[in-house]
Amino acid sequence: MSKIKVMSENMANMIAAGEVIEKCASVVKELVENAIDANAHLIKINLENGGINKIEVVDDGIGMDKDDALLAFSRHATSKIYKEDDLFFIETLGFRGEALASIASVSEVEMETCNGMDSTYIHIKGGKLLESSHGNGRVGTKITVKNLFFNTPARLKYLKTETTELNNCLQFIERLALSKPDISFQLANNEKVLFKTSGSNNLLKTIHEIYGLNVSQNMLEIKAFNDDFLISGYIGKPSILRKNRLGMHTIVNGRIVRNLDLNKAINDAYNTYKHEGFYPIVVINITVDPTMVDVNIHPTKQDIKMSKIDVLTTFIYKTIKDTLYQNLLIPNAIKENDKKEEINFLKNIEQKHKENSSLKSNYPFNKEPVFNDITNAESLLIKDIPVELEQQQLNIGYEEVVDTNLEFRKLKLYPVGQVHRTYIIATDEENMYIIDQHAAHERVNYENICKKIKDKEVSTTKLLVPLTIELSISDFTIFQERKSTLEELGFTIEDFGVNTIIIKEHPTWLKSNHEDENIKSIIDLVITNEKKFAKDKFLDSMAKMVSCKMSVKANEDLSFTEMEHLLNDLTKCDNPYNCCHGRPSIMKYSKYELEKMFRRVL
Ligand code: ZN
Ligand code: ZN
Repeated sequence: MSKIKVMSENMANMIAAGEVIEKCASVVKELVENAIDANAHLIKINLENGGINKIEVVDDGIGMDKDDALLAFSRHATSKIYKEDDLFFIETLGFRGEALASIASVSEVEMETCNGMDSTYIHIKGGKLLESSHGNGRVGTKITVKNLFFNTPARLKYLKTETTELNNCLQFIERLALSKPDISFQLANNEKVLFKTSGSNNLLKTIHEIYGLNVSQNMLEIKAFNDDFLISGYIGKPSILRKNRLGMHTIVNGRIVRNLDLNKAINDAYNTYKHEGFYPIVVINITVDPTMVDVNIHPTKQDIKMSKIDVLTTFIYKTIKDTLYQNLLIPNAIKENDKKEEINFLKNIEQKHKENSSLKSNYPFNKEPVFNDITNAESLLIKDIPVELEQQQLNIGYEEVVDTNLEFRKLKLYPVGQVHRTYIIATDEENMYIIDQHAAHERVNYENICKKIKDKEVSTTKLLVPLTIELSISDFTIFQERKSTLEELGFTIEDFGVNTIIIKEHPTWLKSNHEDENIKSIIDLVITNEKKFAKDKFLDSMAKMVSCKMSVKANEDLSFTEMEHLLNDLTKCDNPYNCCHGRPSIMKYSKYELEKMFRRVL
């Protein structure tokens, strides 16, 4: 007799489970994605103890007949469901088919499913079929997973606390809901509903349902396309930043992805609109010819590779940057937040959505559900955009920046006085303004330096006393490699004995007070600027640093003329609203707001 033992199917399932299922959210993901594939419009996720005790997913999808229901738990279901190239077209996937078998091998699963004719009940525990019988009919599928990893204690140890498991599930459903605004999701833990979207197919409304009024009211719509990509969605104003990246959502062809290049492009576009360490809330849908997307990446990692990623990142960067530029206004000092406003806001977005969708009805990308129908993939190529729409979108235009700052530039701000030796009070006919003197001055200096660098406009000033700086051997070596960047800016640098350099000239934009200190900081920055020296990044950090150092500080007296100059310079800036680190530089109180405060109006 042969001594080779064939590994039992259940053992294979348990091993696969170890790879695919790491936490309760992995189970939720598989079950919910099945529901989406079944064309569900309403998906309810009911958890007990964050999913550790029980995960139940109920959908109103098309359901299955008995054979399919049993097959769904077979490891070999997989191959029947997709062909190799379909990996990306079936948008979600994971290890479809195999996943359900894997889950059932390490837990207790009950499924009730009905396709309108057959109603089936299946009960499996640890991979063993305990029962399969008639269910009691309700179209859709209800699947319950209890006691995950009950038979694999080693795995069980990896499950985290209820809070962590629950948070993972919530985060997953949140992202999924944003990628599927046409599906209504509801998530409850221990019978308490924590999350609910209406499935209105209105992205802004979905954002509202997830993040609330303050966020949804401060989102800017983006929409642009080029030969390869169509991007659309919403980006948050810099007033609603977060301390983590969880609010950044990128969706490629309806599938949520995490891609470092995309995230970086988005963050870079907010440069000088936000603090370091803060991240914007964005929901960006990217539509692309599916053949440009590389699928050979582990599906649970949600990463993708894409050809022309450079084109895409530049495109996203530019679109966001232009949108921010066109839409930023002086923030109002007073934030209103009443219920009436919320109702009006919702009415508005619904109205706007209606107008948009009637207009978009023949738009290929909006055929729902886009990727559930694999054969549709061909027709999703970007060239199919109807001409009228193309024109319509061009009007929104990312190429031509409409200079809304024109209005700001026409502003004539009159200084009234200085408060706390830090803020300037100013006025025009309409409004009262409060300006942070350091932030404003820093912005003026920053834009001035950036412009000089960009225009390669070099004019230099001789130092009265040349500045000698002694470096360590390693710093000296690094400096030699990078000093040409400084020389291009107008610095004259010579070697001066062992590991020592001497600086004789500097560019004129380096103001003549504290130039020694400034030059030393610049040399420091050249040397420490990461292992790989990125010239553009260095120049930007340098401009920020120098403009901060040379600007008037808080607690400094300003004369009336100095205030006038500063306000005048500020109104000429491209982005007068923030300092280069993203702090606000100017706030507005409208006349109406003042009157309201003093109850002159109601
Ligand atoms: Zn500063
Ligand atoms: Zn600053």
